[in-house]
Amino acid sequence: MSGTGGVESEREWIPCGVPSLHGDDADPMAALHLSETRGGGRARAPFSPGPALVRFAAVASCVAGAALRLALPPTCLACDRLVASDQALCAKCWSAMTFLAPPWCARLGLPFAYDLGEGALSPRAIAHPPVFDRLRAVAAYEGPARALVSRLKYHDRPTAARMMGRLMALAGAELLKREEGVPPPLLVPVPLHRLRHWSRRYNQAALLAREVGARSGLEVAPALLERVRATKRQVGLDAKARATNVRGAFAVSASGVLRIAARRVILVDDVFTTGATVQAATRALLRAGASGVDVLAFAHAGADAPIS
Ligand SMILES: [Zn+2]
Repeated sequence: MSGTGGVESEREWIPCGVPSLHGDDADPMAALHLSETRGGGRARAPFSPGPALVRFAAVASCVAGAALRLALPPTCLACDRLVASDQALCAKCWSAMTFLAPPWCARLGLPFAYDLGEGALSPRAIAHPPVFDRLRAVAAYEGPARALVSRLKYHDRPTAARMMGRLMALAGAELLKREEGVPPPLLVPVPLHRLRHWSRRYNQAALLAREVGARSGLEVAPALLERVRATKRQVGLDAKARATNVRGAFAVSASGVLRIAARRVILVDDVFTTGATVQAATRALLRAGASGVDVLAFAHAGADAPIS
C-alpha cells in the first residue's frame, strides 16, 4: 500500500463513472483498472485493446452504473437521505457541519473568533503543549461529522473514507506541503492492534491516509507504526485514564526506522479527542528518529466554538 501517488488527481470523473483521461499517460486499461492501482503502483495492461473494445467497456460501465443507481440510489453518507450523487452529504448535513478554518491556533488548529496574528496559540496549547507540532482537522466532532466518524468506524461504511479523505487533504494543505531540499513528509495512519483490525476488517485511519495520499501525492506507510499492545477502547475513559491506557502501546517496525530517519511524519486518524492516542504514537515516532510529527484528523472534539 505504500508508494501512493497522485493517481486519482490525474483523472477527472465524468457522470457515468468512467474516468476521462488527460495527458501523455492516458491508458484506457489503466483507467478501467483504476481501483486496482489506487494505493499502489501503476498497473499496465498486458495487451493494448482496440478503440472499439474500450468504447464497449465504457458504455457497459455507464449502463451498469445507471442500473445500479436506479436499484440503489445514492444516499447521504451521514444520514441516508437521498442525494443526487455518490460520496456526498445532503444539504441539511452539509450546513450542519462546523468546518474548522483560520484564524486558528498554530499548534492545535482550534479556531479563533478574531485574527490574533500568525503563530498565535490557544490557551490549551500554551497550558498543555502537545508533543506533536501541529494538528489540523476538517470539522468539530459533532452532528454529521460525528456520524461520519461513527459510520466509518463501526457501521461498516468504508466508502465514506473517500469524501472524508478529500476534505482532510484540503484542511491539512499546510501540513501536506513539500519543502524544498527536505524529503517529503510520510503519511502514517494510527494503527489498530491486529486483533481489532481482524474483527473490524479494516483500519479506518488507513483508509483515510490512503485517500489523503492519493490527493496529495505523498507516500503512505500503513505498516510503519504498530500497535504492539492491545488497549481498552478509549470511549468512556477520562483524559488521564486514556493516557495510561495507550502508554507504550506503539512502536515503529524495524524497517520503518530506516524510512523515517530525519523525516517528518503526518499521523492520520479519524478523530482527535483528548489526544492521548496520537501523543503516544508521536512519542514512538520521535524515539524512532522522525524529525517531527504533525497530526491530520477528520474531526476534532472540543473545537465546536471559536475561542474569543
Ligand atoms: Zn444528510
